[in-house]
Amino acid sequence: MCIGLFKKNKFEIVNDPKQAEIIIINTCGFIESAKQEAINTILEMAQFKKQGKCKYLIAMGCLVQRYKKELEKSIPEVDLFLSIDEYENLWGKISKLINKEVKSKNTLEYLDRIISSGDTTAYLKIAEGCSNNCTYCAIPYIRGPYVSRKMEDILIEAEKLAKSGIKELIVIAQDTTKYGVDIYGKPVLAELLEKLCKIDGLKWIRFLYAYPESITDELIDVVRRNDKICNYFDIPLQHFSDKILKRMNRKSDSKSIKNIIEKIRKKIPDVILRTTMIVGFPGETEEDFFELYEFINEIKFEKLGVFKYSKEDGTPASRIPQQVHYKTKQKRLDKIMTLQNQISKIKLEEKIGNIYEAVVDGFSDDNKFICARSYMDIPNEDGTIFIKNNGKVKQGEFINCKIINVRNYDLIGELV
Ligand code: SF4
Repeated sequence: MCIGLFKKNKFEIVNDPKQAEIIIINTCGFIESAKQEAINTILEMAQFKKQGKCKYLIAMGCLVQRYKKELEKSIPEVDLFLSIDEYENLWGKISKLINKEVKSKNTLEYLDRIISSGDTTAYLKIAEGCSNNCTYCAIPYIRGPYVSRKMEDILIEAEKLAKSGIKELIVIAQDTTKYGVDIYGKPVLAELLEKLCKIDGLKWIRFLYAYPESITDELIDVVRRNDKICNYFDIPLQHFSDKILKRMNRKSDSKSIKNIIEKIRKKIPDVILRTTMIVGFPGETEEDFFELYEFINEIKFEKLGVFKYSKEDGTPASRIPQQVHYKTKQKRLDKIMTLQNQISKIKLEEKIGNIYEAVVDGFSDDNKFICARSYMDIPNEDGTIFIKNNGKVKQGEFINCKIINVRNYDLIGELV
């Protein structure tokens, strides 16, 4: 969105911070590790004011929304901190800083955004905010309640993206399965996906962050019967112990979680299931952790990420007295990741000999390998298929490849 505004106002966009006169950092304030990463990036970029061409440093996003005053005091190198509340007058604030006359009307229009995820893949945001109020999460306080975009606006944006050459659309929101509840009185993600499938030019459609309690039979059927929709369900579960799920204010319990997973796997046998878990939530005992561990061992998710619980200011969970020691959290995280590593290896080895259609995301640094991705992987989070580069394949092209080996969480393939 922000890049789109700059482009519209005849600024040149560069990817190398050394070359930039204005550096903008979009921050995340969701969990401790993201906050730390954002602060490190701001400090790193601040160096370019001394060593590079940078005249203005701007920081925006969730971290700024939460800690603007503290950041203003502690990082004076930043010329402008923009909280989410100020996005309405985003361009006004930026142009005042850089003292440039601009005619552009300030806009939060999605249509003018620049795709920062490459020429083939684009993210399509269908709602802002969240009303689920999980007790560990600060997002509802930062982003406000769930607000769906109108379906017609989303479809116009998707058509525009397809016309610009986008082939893979990744539908996102904090919880995509609640899409439409606030404006249409019922969840309509299934309907939206069916309509997106009708857009010419789009080849793959995915949706992320599907909350288990809102995955309907209709949604599973829409995925099953539409070839364009990748057989990939990303379902952040966070835990499996009923006691912890309740404390987290999650709407599903262990029984309903198992039911929905069984149902999806039964209806879509080649489905890829991805989830995320939190370890060390306040009050998590060895027994609770063991329940979680056993569940992961039983279900064998194709993809799984784990976070250590981080105490977020102002959230109900931060006030629970039984906080878990950081060493225990780390031990539990390591234990799950060791297990997942074994599961992933077995799952990936099962793919050897199979042929998959894959999109070329790019090439290895030495240009020896094509880096591709099949329906089984989302960009930046999951694995890559490395294929010997024959010099004839272009970025963004769809190819067919045969899996011949496994390397950690990645696959090795050959062109067919
Ligand atoms: S669903 Fe829960 S974890 Fe996800 S954004 Fe909403 S409140 Fe946060």
